[in-house]
Amino acid sequence: MTLVAGRDCGDCTVCCTVMTINKPEIQKESGVTCRHCKATGCAIYDSRPPVCRSWYCAWRTVEIFDADWRPDKTGVMPYVETEGVSEDFDLSTGIGLMLVGNPLKTVRQKWLQDFVETGVMNSVPLFLSLPGPIGHQAVTTSLNTEEMLEFIRRGLIKDGLEAAVKVLRGCDHEPAVITHTGNDVGIP
Ligand code: SF4
Ligand code: SF4
Repeated sequence: MTLVAGRDCGDCTVCCTVMTINKPEIQKESGVTCRHCKATGCAIYDSRPPVCRSWYCAWRTVEIFDADWRPDKTGVMPYVETEGVSEDFDLSTGIGLMLVGNPLKTVRQKWLQDFVETGVMNSVPLFLSLPGPIGHQAVTTSLNTEEMLEFIRRGLIKDGLEAAVKVLRGCDHEPAVITHTGNDVGIP
């Protein structure tokens, strides 16, 4: 995997909290900060498990995001979405925007609205996502809809994004299945 030069996770540990991790060597529920996560970052960084070595948010891997899009600062964790991308798109992968801060406050930001508008108008598969409560999966909705296009045409993208947040808030979060192996790297 190629990382964008000059970007560093720094103090950000968003993915160490919002993600469900269900691997033989480490398990944790979504919404719970990994017990290896300390104020200065991962306490087992040099020996962190493979899943943590191979996963990065899209801010670390995709050039299109500005340098100041770091998830802990923006409240948005972008990720590469490989599922649910319609064959109608030229691209086989899309971008998910997981709202990890205050969802409505975040979608009212112009920089996010501009990003979504540009992506939708250029047929980039975009998804909006809300993390689930502890132990549950995130919910996701496509932003490439006729309704969103109409909001954009009328100059009402903020309303379109607020409507998408409302849809997500009405979704049921499925429980995330975790297989506790007793082989967790965190167990002394
Ligand atoms: S969310 Fe992105 S920037 Fe933050 S710790 Fe994870 S990979 Fe690094
Ligand atoms: S082991 Fe380290 S990198 Fe992996 S989730 Fe925990 S704190 Fe994050």
